[in-house]
Amino acid sequence: MSVPGCAKPAAVPLDVIRERGQREVFCGLTGIVWMHRKIQDAFFLVVGSRTCAHLIQSAAGVMIFAEPRFATAIIDERDLAGMADMNEELDREVKRLLQRRPDIKLLFLVGSCPSEVIKLDLQRAAERLSEQYMPEVRVLNYSGSGIETTFTEGEDTCLEALVPVCPQPPADAAQQLLIVGALPDIVEDQFRRLFDKLGIDNLAFLPPRKSSDLPSIGGNTRYLLAQPFLTATADALNKRGAQRLPAPFPFGAEGTTAWLQAAATAWGVAAETFREVTAAAEQRARSAVARYRFQLADKSIFFFPDSQLEVPLARFLHNELGMQLCEVGSPYLHKVHLAEEFAMLPADVRLSEGQHVENQLDRCIEQAPDLVVCGLGLANPLEARGIRTKWAIELLFTPIHGYDQAGDCAELFARPLIRQDKLAV
Ligand code: SF4
Repeated sequence: MSVPGCAKPAAVPLDVIRERGQREVFCGLTGIVWMHRKIQDAFFLVVGSRTCAHLIQSAAGVMIFAEPRFATAIIDERDLAGMADMNEELDREVKRLLQRRPDIKLLFLVGSCPSEVIKLDLQRAAERLSEQYMPEVRVLNYSGSGIETTFTEGEDTCLEALVPVCPQPPADAAQQLLIVGALPDIVEDQFRRLFDKLGIDNLAFLPPRKSSDLPSIGGNTRYLLAQPFLTATADALNKRGAQRLPAPFPFGAEGTTAWLQAAATAWGVAAETFREVTAAAEQRARSAVARYRFQLADKSIFFFPDSQLEVPLARFLHNELGMQLCEVGSPYLHKVHLAEEFAMLPADVRLSEGQHVENQLDRCIEQAPDLVVCGLGLANPLEARGIRTKWAIELLFTPIHGYDQAGDCAELFARPLIRQDKLAV
């Protein structure tokens, strides 16, 4: 199926540099920062080292007002003979936690990369604990290890773990639309209203706001990915018989319209109804975005691989704001999930997959872009060279999906350039 309004997906992405080498990117534990806000009765227990605890605490450091719904069970160095004790310790920690926090209904044991944690079979631990605490509390596990995941892939492994415990729909269930990817509640509500107006009311979200609201998944499920980094989750959904609706991602006016259109087409919504429902919101988004054209048009941008949001955001910045793309790096380019995005990029765009940070820094410095999107570790050295930067992590912590956020998304990229102009006055 192709999405009306989009060019035919490119069979092969254009000019792709594939690199392996040193990476500069957070691990998948970072996803806990937004996932724990989304699933309101879940708790994320990282089984890790002091480093993991520091990462989580500094990434989510603002959570001092409420009791946080994440913690780290610190595993110290020990030999294989100590593994049985480690399981007992974990059981004790979980017992203490669940006694103290009866609000927890879903407990994730989150694996990390210290060798002691790798030796521990967290899947068996989760099964053992689930048997003990079900039906009050379900215990699942996933990996946020820096060896296996880059920072948005923690959400992918978390959602992948949820899919097998989602219920099966009845055989005669009506077609259901599933939106996949953690969205801020306000964005979810906006999309729900739009789908309602389109007559698509059999709608569910993964992850849900409460673990008791896990959506049913089966052959009646058609799903739209809201995030481009959900490869393992999509595979798990496909295995359950669900079908992905090919679409670009809902960033900017253009991406949001094409994303909604993919569902509208699958539901047979009349073109006239679609325009009636979307036209005003799309126009508002275009006007909000246009306010930042002055700062961003013809400016050059370079993406280091970080969040996997790079391709859709590059498409938005190029097509709707007139930015010039120097290089669009991503940890991983999923040819199928990104096919509609590739088709909307300029033909001569340079894409890179994976990372060799030294080589990429050389290319970046040589091109001297007006703006670089990168992780925190690269931002300071680049700023010191007079290159303006945008931290990729902000793209996950700020609502940027959909029509109503399109202007905010543009503003995120304009902000470093506006600040530079102010400092120059
Ligand atoms: S999981 Fe690995 S990369 Fe992530 S904080 Fe822990 S030790 Fe560091």
